[in-house]
Amino acid sequence: MNDPISRRDALATFAAGAAAVALTGRTSAQPPAPATPGGQPAASTLTLPPLPYDPGALEPNVDALTMTIHHDRHHKAYVDNANAALAGTALAGKSADDILAALATAELPDNKRNAIRNNVGGHANHSLFWSLMAPPGKGGGGAPAGPLADALKANFESFDAKEGFKDRFAAAGMQRFGSGWAWLLVMPDKSLKIRSTANQDSPLMGEKLAGCSGVPILCLDVWEHAYYLKHQNKRADYISAWWNVVNWPRVGELFAAATR
Ligand code: MN
Repeated sequence: MNDPISRRDALATFAAGAAAVALTGRTSAQPPAPATPGGQPAASTLTLPPLPYDPGALEPNVDALTMTIHHDRHHKAYVDNANAALAGTALAGKSADDILAALATAELPDNKRNAIRNNVGGHANHSLFWSLMAPPGKGGGGAPAGPLADALKANFESFDAKEGFKDRFAAAGMQRFGSGWAWLLVMPDKSLKIRSTANQDSPLMGEKLAGCSGVPILCLDVWEHAYYLKHQNKRADYISAWWNVVNWPRVGELFAAATR
């Protein structure tokens, strides 16, 4: 479904952005686009980062068709709609994370605030989500190590025993009615919390909009578009398979950055 040439172009264009995500786990604004033919510099816009692996690389846990549609259509639509909503507002040109942090208090018409909330939220959430998965055996699956493993044990008693971290995180995803996300958050006191948000709300939007706050270090998309082709209505099966592709080394890096 990907035209190889446009994919290569996308890789070249977005390499800087992908590097920024890889370093910080955060989506950042891209460098300003080249001047338009009319000579006016184009405003900096949000851009679709490439998947950091082939769409089939997470098979059989996450299927290639779901990954392709999820990234190339769903995520792209969030980016396109975000840029349309941001145009002409005070938030245009800022990084996705900065937009989400400013959203609750920015002076915006309500229809703009809602469109930005849904679409910049969707862009930021998916950008983080892709970066937190990896092919099994190549960073994906297994168990966390080091300080993150210690912190999960300290906060949730166990990583994978009954009613430990994995059970509680999966329950957050299962109990989110309709569409939304499950999150593992680092709080200001460096404790870990499991929360869920509706729709495309992000903890980076803060309590007022998202109902939770903190620094996300793991997220799980529980929208039906994330699993329906392979698992139909069986969200629990999707979550079980997803554990096999969680990029724990990357989660550990985000944990280290958030607790430094
Ligand atoms: Mn999604």
